[in-house]
Amino acid sequence: MKKRKVMLGNSIAVRRWNLVSIFKLIRKRGPISRIELTKITGCSAGTVSNHVKTLIKKGFVIETQKGVSSGGRKPMQLMVNSNKAYIFSIEIEVNKIKIVLFDLELKVVTKNIMSITYRDDYKKTLEQVFFGMDKMREEKNIKLDNLLGIGIAVPGLIDKVKGILEFAPNLGWKNVHISKIFKDKYGLPIVLNNEAKAAAIGERESIYPTINNMVFISINEGIGCGIFFNGELYRGASGNAGEFGHIIIDTNGPLCHCGNKGCWETLASESYIVNSYLKLPNSNKELTKKEIYRLGKDGDKKVIEIFKEAGRNIGIGLVNIVNGLSPELLVIGGGIVKIKDYIYEEIIKKLKESALSVSYNKVEIKFSKLGSLAAVYGMADLIINERIKFI
Ligand SMILES: [Zn+2]
Repeated sequence: MKKRKVMLGNSIAVRRWNLVSIFKLIRKRGPISRIELTKITGCSAGTVSNHVKTLIKKGFVIETQKGVSSGGRKPMQLMVNSNKAYIFSIEIEVNKIKIVLFDLELKVVTKNIMSITYRDDYKKTLEQVFFGMDKMREEKNIKLDNLLGIGIAVPGLIDKVKGILEFAPNLGWKNVHISKIFKDKYGLPIVLNNEAKAAAIGERESIYPTINNMVFISINEGIGCGIFFNGELYRGASGNAGEFGHIIIDTNGPLCHCGNKGCWETLASESYIVNSYLKLPNSNKELTKKEIYRLGKDGDKKVIEIFKEAGRNIGIGLVNIVNGLSPELLVIGGGIVKIKDYIYEEIIKKLKESALSVSYNKVEIKFSKLGSLAAVYGMADLIINERIKFI
């Protein structure tokens, strides 16, 4: 066990934290005055004024008369200088790549969603990402100097400090030095994160900023989770806490790529739905996930029964999470949201039936509002915070 460093009165860390918080407030509430910032943050007027001065000097914030009513001398308002810098946010999924360019206000400038051409070949896939990014930069006439950084979300286990994707079973990638590859190509700050954790950050920052204990469950080909514990993302000793996709819910269940049988994700993910459909006698073995979802939505009874079974299985895993962590809020995200109307009742039924009422009574269950963009929002947020801290 490592010795812990005790950090008492670390004024640099506090300063950085305040600077990021003030910038975030200006981004979310601007145009806003210094007086309002002082009231909301509880910082002294001097502290707010100093941080604002830094942000203006560096060009991240501008003063404006916008929102100031006429009559009398009104304080100058502050707002984010949205075109000062941009952020690339990328999510590599099992079948597609999502590239989103955000401005400093976290507004989408442009986005590009591509199918992965060579999934098993990480080099070719990353080349595809570079090609997509360069094309977008050219179209919007954005130079590398105008970029704050690049955030990359991946469906797998990572070493966040080294920026290595250690294992992404659904992509078949192992030990890919993603941050280094991007850094060598663009020379910009790079942040790598797990897709579910990035989505958890995106959803919380944008939709539920005041919820402190929340679990985000991202259900795609696999299942990943992000846990907010007392307002902080919980990473655990390995940095990969939240792998609830591998809690075992049926010891006689299907074999999981992690080596165990009956992991939650083998019975409750989108892969489960696709596999269950393909196992049906007389099913069309050529159908994609999208087409199977379409069949269900068009009323195919067998497909709807598979959706419901997946819903019940999702519910079983959620029972374990609710009992174990007792969060205030559970947000279900990922591709599964597309069939939320078919799974919601089954999930709630299972939770009512099996979760401890003391915890179930305190939790709210929601579907992701950011939907398929949750992870890219989360990555852009991380890049902004990382960069603002050090200006
Ligand atoms: Zn497993």
